[in-house]
Amino acid sequence: MNMKQESEYVYSFWEGRLLLDQEVERFRTLHFPQKSEDEWQEMIQQWREKNWLSVFPAIQRRSGRWKCLRCGADQELIFFTPCGRCERDTCASCKHCLLLGRARSCHQLYQFVREEPDRAPIPRIVTPPSIQLTAKQLVAAQKLSVYVKQQAPTVLFWAVTGAGKTETMIPVIELLIRQGKSVLWCTPRQDVVKELAPRLKRMFPDGLVSEHYAGSPDEWMLSPLMIATAHQTIRMAHLFDLVIVDEADAFPLEGNPALEYSIQRSKRTGGTMILLTATPTDSWIRKMRKGELPTVLLPCRFHGKPMPCPIWKRETNLWRQIKSHTMNGTIQRILGEITSTDGQALWFVPRIEDVKVVAEWLKRGFPRDEGKVDFVSSTDENRTSKILRFRNGSILHLVTTTILERGITVPQCNVIVLRADHFVYDRASLVQIAGRVGRSLQYQAGKVWFLSNHKTEPICQAIREIQLLNREACKEFGG
Ligand SMILES: [Zn+2]
Ligand SMILES: [Zn+2]
Repeated sequence: MNMKQESEYVYSFWEGRLLLDQEVERFRTLHFPQKSEDEWQEMIQQWREKNWLSVFPAIQRRSGRWKCLRCGADQELIFFTPCGRCERDTCASCKHCLLLGRARSCHQLYQFVREEPDRAPIPRIVTPPSIQLTAKQLVAAQKLSVYVKQQAPTVLFWAVTGAGKTETMIPVIELLIRQGKSVLWCTPRQDVVKELAPRLKRMFPDGLVSEHYAGSPDEWMLSPLMIATAHQTIRMAHLFDLVIVDEADAFPLEGNPALEYSIQRSKRTGGTMILLTATPTDSWIRKMRKGELPTVLLPCRFHGKPMPCPIWKRETNLWRQIKSHTMNGTIQRILGEITSTDGQALWFVPRIEDVKVVAEWLKRGFPRDEGKVDFVSSTDENRTSKILRFRNGSILHLVTTTILERGITVPQCNVIVLRADHFVYDRASLVQIAGRVGRSLQYQAGKVWFLSNHKTEPICQAIREIQLLNREACKEFGG
C-alpha cells in the first residue's frame, strides 16, 4: 500500500463520524496503535486539505446565542462552569449530549465528512434474506423503494401495529446495501436495538449489520446497515443514504429538536428519511393530507385481518367499586368472554399506584384465577420476568400502565382500559394499546374495551382512526 492508499484506507474507518478531540484520541490509540504521532498528524493534515475533515470548537457563540454543534442543542441547554482544561471560570458546556461525554467550548469537534457527489459507491454482493412478504407488504415495499430512488427527503411510512413493518423495510434496505450505500435504522429505545439487531444480523450476515448504543460491542464499527439509538446519531454526520426512524412519534424524538437535528445530520445530501410509525402525529397527518409529506400506508396486518375496533362503555361506578372491592357487572361479562375463548388480558390503568389495587380487586373477584393475576409497572424490578410469564401464559391477567402500550406481543391478548378518559391517554396511546390485540391469526377473538365516565376526544379519535384504517385496508385491496 502506498501512502495515498493507506490514507484512504485509514480514512474509511473514520468517515461519517463526528467526534470530540478526546474521542478521536481514544479511538486512535485503541484501533491504530501502530501509527506514530507524526504519521497521524500528517494524515490529519492531508484529510483537512482534501476537505474530508473539518475541525471546529464543539460549542460556539453565533449571533449572540450559544449552540452545541455536536448535538444541536440551543442556548437553554448550555451552562457555564470553571474548566480545568482551558482554565477559564466560565467554560461553556452542553447538558443535552452529556450522556455521551461532556462537550465544552474548549473541545474541538472532528467532522469526518467526504461529500463528493461524483464518488460512485462500490456495489456489494448480498445473499437475499429469506423473507416472505404478503402481497400488501410487497406493494408498500415497492412504493418505498420508488420514493428512495426519487430521493424524496422525508417519507412517512404509516404501518398499523402488527403489519410487519420490519419485513416490509427489507427490500429497500437490501437494494441500497447492494448498491454499496448505507442505511441507518434508528429507534428511541435501547431495548429495541437489542431486539432488532439479532434479527437483522440473521437476515444480513457477514458483518453487514452493526448495533450501536451506550457500551455496545460494535461501538467502533461502521457497517452498511447500522442499528442505533437516536442518541448515537450525535456521533454521526452525513453518513447514510437512508435513515429509518422507527417509532418516530415516540419519546424521546417527538418534540425534541436537538435529537431531530442530529438524526437529520446523519443523512447524506440526497438521502431519504423514512418516518416509521403506527401512530403518526397530528402534524404529520395534516402534512400528509395537504400532500406535503409523501406517505406509504400499510393499513393491514400481515395476516390480513382487520384491527379489532375498541368498544367504549360508560362505567360511572367502576372506580368506586374497585376501591370498595365490589365486583362490576360489565367486568364480569368481559371476564366471562375472555375465559370462554381461552384468552388473556392486559388491564391498563392510568397511574402506577393503581396497578396493585386493581390486581387485588381482580383476584378477590375471581378466586379461581387468583394465582394467574399479576401487575407490573415501570418501577417494578421483576418487570422482564413478569412479562415473560404473561407471554407464556402462566399469568392470564396483567395489570399495567402505559409502559406496555408499545412493543408487547401476546398471542391470546385482550385489552381493557380502565378510566380511559384519563388525560394520560391520548389518541396515539389508545391506538397503540388497542394494537396489542388480534396480532396472531390463531386468536382473532381478542377484544378491546375502553371503560370510563366520559367519552373523551382522544377516545373518539382513536376509534375513528382504527375504523378509517380498516376501511382503507378493504378499499385498497378490494376486500
Ligand atoms: Zn474549557
Ligand atoms: Zn450538545
